[in-house]
Amino acid sequence: MTEWILPYNERGKDAFRVNDALRNLGRIEWVQNINLTNINTGDIVYLYEAAPVKAIRWKCKVTDVRREDSIIDDSAYCDSGITYDGPFIELEPLCEYFLLQQLSLNNLRKNGYYGNMQGSCRIERFKPELSEYIHKIDKIQTSDEELTKVIQKISMQELEKLARSSSKRNPEVREIKTKQYNRSVFVSAYTKRRAGKYCELCGEMAPFLDKDGNPYLEIHHVVWLSNGGEDSINNTVALCPNCHKKMHIVQESKDVHFLQKILDYKG
Ligand SMILES: [Zn+2]
Ligand SMILES: [Zn+2]
Repeated sequence: MTEWILPYNERGKDAFRVNDALRNLGRIEWVQNINLTNINTGDIVYLYEAAPVKAIRWKCKVTDVRREDSIIDDSAYCDSGITYDGPFIELEPLCEYFLLQQLSLNNLRKNGYYGNMQGSCRIERFKPELSEYIHKIDKIQTSDEELTKVIQKISMQELEKLARSSSKRNPEVREIKTKQYNRSVFVSAYTKRRAGKYCELCGEMAPFLDKDGNPYLEIHHVVWLSNGGEDSINNTVALCPNCHKKMHIVQESKDVHFLQKILDYKG
C-alpha cells in the first residue's frame, strides 16, 4: 500500500468542486495522469486543497484504477462544463479533516515536506517524518477522545466555525458492538420499590414519572458489573439520572462509600 498526496483547486475558473462531490457522491473519479501511473487499488490518497485553504483536507482510499470510461455522473460539480478523458482512478473518502491548521502547507513543510504542492506524488518521496506527522494528525482527527483534547484549546469563534462546517443533515450510521449484561428484572424492580420515590444518593424526588406513572429512577451497581460486581439487591441502588451519570463520570469515593453504607443497612 502506497500513500500519495494529490493537490486540487476548489476555486478557480475551471475548478471541480471536489469537497461537495466527495460529500454528496461518496466517491469520485480522478484523472490518472502520468504521475499516477503506478497507483493501485487500496492505496491511500491525501487530497490537498491548494485554493483556498492550502491544507490536506481529505483522506481517501483508491477503489479503482485505469478506468477508461467515466461511470460517475459528477457534472453537477463541474461548473465550467469541461469533461475529462480517462483513464480515471476512483477515490472513496475515509475522513474529511476539519483541523486544517495542523495539515496546512506551512505545518507540512515544518514536518518534512518541501517544494510547492504541484502535481501528485508519493509521500515516501519526502523525509519519513512527513508520513509520521500526517499519521499522527490523522489519529487525532479520527479519535473523538484526541479531538476533544484539541478542542478544549481552541477559541469559541474557531469552534463555532468547525461546528458549522461539520454539521450533517444525515449523519452516517455506525454500528457499535456493546456487551450487555443479562440483568434480573426482579433485582431491578425490587431495588426501585425499596427506594420508593427518592434517589438513594441525593435524596431528591425522582425528576419525572415514567409512562406507567412510576417515579423514574435508574438502577446502578455500586460495584460495577464490569468490575465483577454482582447483580443482586446487595449491590444495586436506584438513582436519579443526574446522580447515576455522576457515578459513571466521576465516581467519587465519598459517594461510593455512602451508597455502600445504604446497602449495608437496606440490602
Ligand atoms: Zn440523585
Ligand atoms: Zn450505573
